[in-house]
Amino acid sequence: MEDKKTLMVVAAHPDDPEFGAGGTVAKYVREGWRAVYVICTNGDKGTPDPEMTSERLAVIREQEQKNAAKVLGVSEVVFLGHPDGWLTDSPEFRGELVRLIRKFRPELVITHDPTRKYMGHHDHRITGQVCMDAVFPYCRDHLFYPEHKAEGLTPFKVGEMYLTGAEEPNKYVDITETFDLKMKAIACHVSQVGNRTGDWESWVKARREQAEAMSKERGMPLSEAFHRIEIRK
Ligand SMILES: [Zn+2]
Repeated sequence: MEDKKTLMVVAAHPDDPEFGAGGTVAKYVREGWRAVYVICTNGDKGTPDPEMTSERLAVIREQEQKNAAKVLGVSEVVFLGHPDGWLTDSPEFRGELVRLIRKFRPELVITHDPTRKYMGHHDHRITGQVCMDAVFPYCRDHLFYPEHKAEGLTPFKVGEMYLTGAEEPNKYVDITETFDLKMKAIACHVSQVGNRTGDWESWVKARREQAEAMSKERGMPLSEAFHRIEIRK
């Protein structure tokens, strides 16, 4: 367990890890990596159902996220529980991510690309930006958040980041072998895809065709696209 390389997905909402990187997570887990999720908000606004309440939705979405993580072989899911839609770039939120990176010591951190130019979800933008800041330089330098020392946590240097939803992808991961698992994990988010998809089979077929079209020029049957950043150690 200790020699395993760790990847950490830092996502704004339950379901973001699966949509953005589910195939990659499953692939790396199969290759022997340990995967950890950090879910920043409780997703308590994500419903068109007028009868649903935020309290009930948060409980449902946490369980759905646990189910999806299990399908992909994720070892641990940390829920920060912030209200959906209200993340802010604050020292407190940054400190939460710094603490978890120092604790789990991931070689690879996967998060949202915060640099999308036009439309983008507020929480994705904030999560991506705060996570990038947490990786560099806050979790590297021991004088940032020195209170972590009392917990036995020491500074840590992340090796690389993959950003999801990137407008300028430069890294394609072949997910041919894990595409079906990714779809199975997405299907766990019943509150999100349950009503929208109608016929599940045809929805999956459309996703597959979309991924095939994107992957063709990369010479891969099915892939996930990221903007990769290598961090000098
Ligand atoms: Zn999201």
